[in-house]
Amino acid sequence: MNRKCILTAIPSVLYWIFGFYFFFFYLYLAPQSSIKKALLAVSYLLTVYWFVSIKLRQQKKLIKDCQESEEIYQTLFNLSLDAIHLETERGEIIDCNRSGHEMFGYTKEEMLTKTIKDIVPDDFAATLPEVIPEEMTTGDVYVERVNKKKDGTLFPTEINTKFIEIGGQRRLIAYVKDITERKELEEELKKLTFKDELTKLYNRRFIFNQLEIELARVLREGIEMSLVLLDIDNFKEINDTYGHLCGDDVLRKLSEIIQDNIRKLDYAGRYGGEEFIIIFTATGIETAWQITERIREQFKKQKFDSENLMVSFSAGMIKIDQEGAKNRTIDDLIKEADNLLYQGKNMGKDQIVKTG
Ligand code: GH3
Ligand code: MG
Ligand code: MG
Repeated sequence: MNRKCILTAIPSVLYWIFGFYFFFFYLYLAPQSSIKKALLAVSYLLTVYWFVSIKLRQQKKLIKDCQESEEIYQTLFNLSLDAIHLETERGEIIDCNRSGHEMFGYTKEEMLTKTIKDIVPDDFAATLPEVIPEEMTTGDVYVERVNKKKDGTLFPTEINTKFIEIGGQRRLIAYVKDITERKELEEELKKLTFKDELTKLYNRRFIFNQLEIELARVLREGIEMSLVLLDIDNFKEINDTYGHLCGDDVLRKLSEIIQDNIRKLDYAGRYGGEEFIIIFTATGIETAWQITERIREQFKKQKFDSENLMVSFSAGMIKIDQEGAKNRTIDDLIKEADNLLYQGKNMGKDQIVKTG
């Protein structure tokens, strides 16, 4: 037992020893009332002393527990690699941990002068209410949101918020995780799933799926679209004469030209080895023809490391309108475009053959 324990135990021990004797004296040995009174007073004082000392001990333990909890809280708060903000109902940041300001490029002093509107993109800030509404103040709220750094850089975050009451005031705790790396990885994975590694165009699976979607749109909305199947001429010879790496370069250059010429709404994909598909969405065959002709001309003019290398392609092009989309599968459409493409090959290559 240490010294502190012995000291704190003294009042209780004294009380029980003296309390017992005083009670004994009071009953049997002190018939005079003055002695009785004195004994009662001492007994009363001892009781009060005992009670107070117990209360003081409880209070001391409570303070110690609070200090320990505060220390654990502060350690966790500052150790966290994620940002933690303590905000008012109006979104004013009144406390934050180290990551809470470093993640946003501010010093702590600067951060504590900001509101939530300063750390989100301007268009989102404009939609935020002055006071966070009641319906948002119940339970946990989890969102993925873009945040803004001091230098204006936007970055994706995952945010967990919870309202708590501190000193009778509603306070919002926001736990902000920077998910830039995760998003980049997801984006990379998405590309791997949808894109062809060599040409960076969509892969066959994606383009077939998209063709299905576009065909359904033509049927539903009655908009016309055009489909092109394109094949590089004499590609085997290019490989055989200039090497496989040079062949890869030709594939990449043609893909870049296609990508530069089509619109954001259109889809270009690698169908097979040196065969490509272009889906011109909501585009009549004449416009699609003009764009594909432009691609053909640019490809022919393209310079390569091997100066003597001449390149060209042949293509088959079909239009798909609402009537034509009925009772035709994707395989039917590809087959039709393929037939036109081989007409072009048979007619001497380096040309686009279209329906109608
Ligand atoms: P045509 O004018 O009739 O289309 O003849 P072609 O030589 O282009 O057609 P063919 O189908 O005979 O040859 C296609 C060649 O494409 C054969 C194959 O080795 C080559 N190839 C397929 N994929 C790749 C690739 O990723 N890189 C390279 N360098 N060559 C490829
Ligand atoms: Mg081919
Ligand atoms: Mg070919």
